[in-house]
Amino acid sequence: MTDKKNSTKIVSAGRRPEWTQGIVNTPVWRASTILYDTVADLRARGAADTHHKLFYGRRGTPTQWTLADALTELEPGAEATLLYPSGVAAVTTALLAVLAPGDELLVPDSAYDPTRNFAGGMLKRFGIDTTFYDPLIGARIADLCTDRTKAIFMESPGSLTFEVQDVPAIVAVAKARSITTLIDNTWATPLLLPVIAMGVDYSILACTKYVVGHSDVMLGSVTAAEGQYERLRAASYQLGQYASPDDAWLGTRGLRTMAVRLKQHGEAALKIAEWLKTRPEVARVLHPALPDCPGHEIFARDFKGASGLFSFVLNGGDDAARAALIDGLEHFGIGFSWGGYESLALPIDPHRFRSATRWEAEGPAVRLQIGLEDPDDLIADLEAGLARFARKRG
Ligand SMILES: *Cc1c(COP(=O)(O)O)cnc(C)c1O
Repeated sequence: MTDKKNSTKIVSAGRRPEWTQGIVNTPVWRASTILYDTVADLRARGAADTHHKLFYGRRGTPTQWTLADALTELEPGAEATLLYPSGVAAVTTALLAVLAPGDELLVPDSAYDPTRNFAGGMLKRFGIDTTFYDPLIGARIADLCTDRTKAIFMESPGSLTFEVQDVPAIVAVAKARSITTLIDNTWATPLLLPVIAMGVDYSILACTKYVVGHSDVMLGSVTAAEGQYERLRAASYQLGQYASPDDAWLGTRGLRTMAVRLKQHGEAALKIAEWLKTRPEVARVLHPALPDCPGHEIFARDFKGASGLFSFVLNGGDDAARAALIDGLEHFGIGFSWGGYESLALPIDPHRFRSATRWEAEGPAVRLQIGLEDPDDLIADLEAGLARFARKRG
């Protein structure tokens, strides 16, 4: 039998007849207390492995297990997945699961800002030191590894600036030294970059973005490679991590259409990125599928496609000129997060979140989340925006 494609798998992955009773999307099973028939029954359940068995609400119900198992099935080589109340909770719990006082952690300079804050905040307070590294470092990350280095975090492409990391090269360095690897795979999802198959130990998603896909639920996940699940489970249980069944239910509903949404987001975003590249008001477009994006050759080698989030740098101008562009947009909301059906524009200032490298730019920058609107309407909207920018810039 040939291996099923992910776009086929995603339609029914994680579903079990005993959880659905024939209903298409596993219903919302809400619970705190689970009742047992006898004292002996209660004791036996507590002593056994509670994975996928009703035990106590915090350990989940079939509603959460459906989404978790579906995400596991999308990552060949994965053992299991746990859900979290947000993407940030997924990142922080995964890091706490693999680090101890005295350890060192490596984090790319392009990492999502709250990930940086956790490293510099709570991890530091607990005696864990972080070294930030150039996201384009590749195999030279070996030079930063010491006897104390216990984990290498990756995020590819990088938040805001979209540098593509050489995941296989970094994994090879880590494996030779028994260092744990984790990646924030929110941009690509397992559909565009199956990172567990590439040797990464933990694949982290802010499901809030493409999995949910409708800008109305906070949710995170960590998928563990074979042999890496137990310490994630232990840390998550000790911390009391839990995602609500209602949110998991919406997450599964979103996941079923993620392949087709990603394809549309990706095609529209690339069209718009290529158009922006032709504009004199734009100095640079930061999109991994464009040949001049840092790490593009790695993107072309490893990724199955691009999703719908990228940035561009304006040619000169100041904050007010950038605001003139963004404020008047008709189809782009102004707001955080991404991965929903609606386009968004966000002013970004990457230099504020750098310590190992310098971010230098020709002008202010804008991040675009390309939604499901017609790309030609979005281009017309941006064209008018660039004219407002140019007028204000003078
Ligand atoms: C949004 C985001 C997160 C955090 O997800 P939340 O669900 O908002 O907590 C983590 N990583 C990346 C790359 C993100 O864009």
